Amino acid sequence: MNNVKNVLIIGSGPAGYTAAIYASRSGLNPTLISGLEPGGQLTITTDVENYPGFENPIQGPWLMEQMKKQAAIFGTNIINDFVKNVDLKKFPFVVETEKEIFHSYSIVIATGAKAKWLNIEGEREFMGFGVSACATCDGFFFKNKTVAVAGGGNTAVEEALFLSNLCKKVLIIHRRDKFRAEKILQDRLMKKENIEILWDQEVKKVIGDKDKKCISSIEVLNNKTKAKKDVKIDGFFVAIGHAPATSLFKTKLKMDNDGYIITSPDSTKTNVDGVFAAGDVTDKIYRQAVTAAGMGCMSAIEAESFLNLKKII
Ligand code: NDP
Repeated sequence: MNNVKNVLIIGSGPAGYTAAIYASRSGLNPTLISGLEPGGQLTITTDVENYPGFENPIQGPWLMEQMKKQAAIFGTNIINDFVKNVDLKKFPFVVETEKEIFHSYSIVIATGAKAKWLNIEGEREFMGFGVSACATCDGFFFKNKTVAVAGGGNTAVEEALFLSNLCKKVLIIHRRDKFRAEKILQDRLMKKENIEILWDQEVKKVIGDKDKKCISSIEVLNNKTKAKKDVKIDGFFVAIGHAPATSLFKTKLKMDNDGYIITSPDSTKTNVDGVFAAGDVTDKIYRQAVTAAGMGCMSAIEAESFLNLKKII
């Protein structure tokens, strides 16, 4: 068969680009298919303070651009396309995108994770018209206005902090009486005068004007007292975590109950020989850019060993 790739990388977050950097420096001439959101989740963040090597905060989109350039410099063929089907039963594996069909001896899956939604009335209807999952992207639309953020993890607290610099008032609505966000972020939150925390509360409905395409309030339930109230807001940000982007591999690879791809201990190997998974698509514990990058590195090294063992290279 002609033109079979050694390594095909699916996804362009820190895991995908790091796999590409390592695979291209090993002379494997990898191809990377970047997906619908090139750069992954870091492209919708602002300040990154915990990626090693930088004294001052760096910007997420900038970091991804650097990784992309580094992968390209070493010879990765980066393709802006979207994978719509894979056949892992055939070898070489078959990967079908919107525009082409690829054959590859190994695959690195680095498709990451996506924001979760509350699935409440009005949420979908007003998405992009007052409801958002990305404060960095949409916060500016609510300058000097009142917004609410649902969630209690790092994302929710970071979004609230970001919004507090733009908006008149930020309500953070959490279903428990304790955040799971890191203490350093909680400390910053507590210092903000325009952030109010609504503990033990759940958002049940988004209310707005369909014709004017804007929201006016959310219905909030106090899960201790069972009291319901309407809270007037202009923007609503959902920040309740993420789900792995693995629908493409359903029934084709072993996954856990939440849809994360299962890999062998201390490895990126999946249950299909020659298929590796790196980053948020397999990691529900750490979910950091630096751990995703580490797994990307592992996957490229493991792909090289696999190709060697199979006497393909
Ligand atoms: P998390 O899973 O950590 O937190 C999700 C939050 O949403 C929890 O507080 C959870 O409540 C709440 N929640 C989940 N489902 C619902 C629901 N249906 N209704 C109401 N509330 C809900 O997700 P994050 O996106 O915050 O973080 C993901 C990972 O990324 C974490 O490991 C985090 O540390 C990391 N991260 C790191 C950053 C950094 O280092 N700068 C920035 C952002 C994320 P409950 O607590 O009750 O379960």
